[in-house]
Amino acid sequence: MASKEFDLVVIGAGPGGYTAAIRAAQLGMKAACVEKEERPGGTCLRVGCIPSKALLEATRIYSRLKDGSLSKWGLAVGEARVDVPAMMRQKDRTVETLARGIEALFRKNGVTHIRGTARLTGTGSVEVEGDGTLQSRRILIATGSRPATIPGVRPDGDRVCTSSEALSWEEAPAHLAVIGAGYIGLELGSVWSRLGSKVTVLEYLPRILPGMDAEVAAEARKVFEKQGLEFRLESRVSGVSCQEGRAIVHLQGGDDLECDRVLVATGRAPCTDGLGLEEAGVRVDEKGRIAVDDAFQTTARDIYAIGDVIPGPMLAHKAEEDGVACVERMATGYGHVDYSLIPGVVYTDPEIASVGWTEEELKEQGRDYRKGVFPFKANSRARCTDATEGFVKVLADARTDRVLGVHILGPHAGDLIAEATAAMTFGASSEDIARTCHAHPTLAEAFREAALAVDGRAINF
Ligand code: NAD
Repeated sequence: MASKEFDLVVIGAGPGGYTAAIRAAQLGMKAACVEKEERPGGTCLRVGCIPSKALLEATRIYSRLKDGSLSKWGLAVGEARVDVPAMMRQKDRTVETLARGIEALFRKNGVTHIRGTARLTGTGSVEVEGDGTLQSRRILIATGSRPATIPGVRPDGDRVCTSSEALSWEEAPAHLAVIGAGYIGLELGSVWSRLGSKVTVLEYLPRILPGMDAEVAAEARKVFEKQGLEFRLESRVSGVSCQEGRAIVHLQGGDDLECDRVLVATGRAPCTDGLGLEEAGVRVDEKGRIAVDDAFQTTARDIYAIGDVIPGPMLAHKAEEDGVACVERMATGYGHVDYSLIPGVVYTDPEIASVGWTEEELKEQGRDYRKGVFPFKANSRARCTDATEGFVKVLADARTDRVLGVHILGPHAGDLIAEATAAMTFGASSEDIARTCHAHPTLAEAFREAALAVDGRAINF
């Protein structure tokens, strides 16, 4: 059937898949995107980045109204109250609007959006449950990831939950235990702490945010402790059991912790079940990730994979980069992703953002570097908004001055990191940033001052 023949069938309409399908259509391919959920957007839009950011913003405002910090500006609002179900409805509306936006983009670009569960069924063919078979010159797997758990912990969606459920609870649990002090543990731990839960974060490493710059992570921990999060580091969770409506978290070599709900935030695993990978000749590695070459080609001819199902950071923007590079390479022979410059952002308050090498990694490499640090307490815009916690750290090569890493704990760090990423993409030196005029008063001046500090010549600190 002519209408079921495509140049490219993308499986999965998350940020990686839908972006790849749109770019493919722009490049002249007849593209289809198959999605098993009712709406496109993937984990990021349905149960990840977007709903968590909506809740983080609403609860950030609520905590400011509640903690009395507005009174110094002469602002009083009476008793701050929160209606959690109403907050959840607003979050759901945000998700719905954005999902409709993707559907509109599919229509605008001529991408065929097919609802159903897809499975590889031979060279160039994909079967969509209940919707027949699609023929395609190329197939792109962009099925994403799902929460992973740890031995002894089986999420039941009620007492023991993953991030998917913790984005929709209708009331704050009195005591929430979070397993894992990574991105999800800190973001959702912050949300429920602001809504009134006592939050205990259990982390088996001696630090929070593994992989991020250690100095930034240590300072962030102090700030989160002041906000009320309790951290139990070097605490390895060996299991969780439930008794009479309570959850009991078992810790290796430590006392049990009794709580009302548990959030398991110990990483994510690629979604490859039921795709028919083995029969199609698509190999996965020991972690269940699809092995690809530098053109995103799997071990099966004309079958490609991008995003969370392949190695690399499990981040929406990395998946988008993969998607664009993959289809551009198909169409033009060119297209690549610089994996050394994928920024990472934790949307706590203050935010944490990072790009390039951390100081620990530079030390490990034995690389000579110079370091410039500038605190937000010396930045006038941060003073105006009363958001003075944190700092910007710029790491530059000692010999060439090329910027090697930028790490930020502070207000709007997630937006500020874009300038650092752009500068590094163009191979900037700290001197280049120091000589770039930055508007005053802006938070971005803290980045410039940190670049000046690399050479010991910050002006305002
Ligand atoms: P993570 O890998 O960031 O953190 C998991 C944490 O759990 C680690 O610190 C690990 O040491 C700890 N841990 C593992 N087993 C443990 C045990 N038995 N006991 C105690 N602690 C244990 O994983 P995550 O926070 O679940 O996030 C998953 C993925 O989603 C990440 O790849 C992340 O990049 C992505 N994500 C990104 C964002 C963002 O960009 N803002 C937000 C959420 C999630």
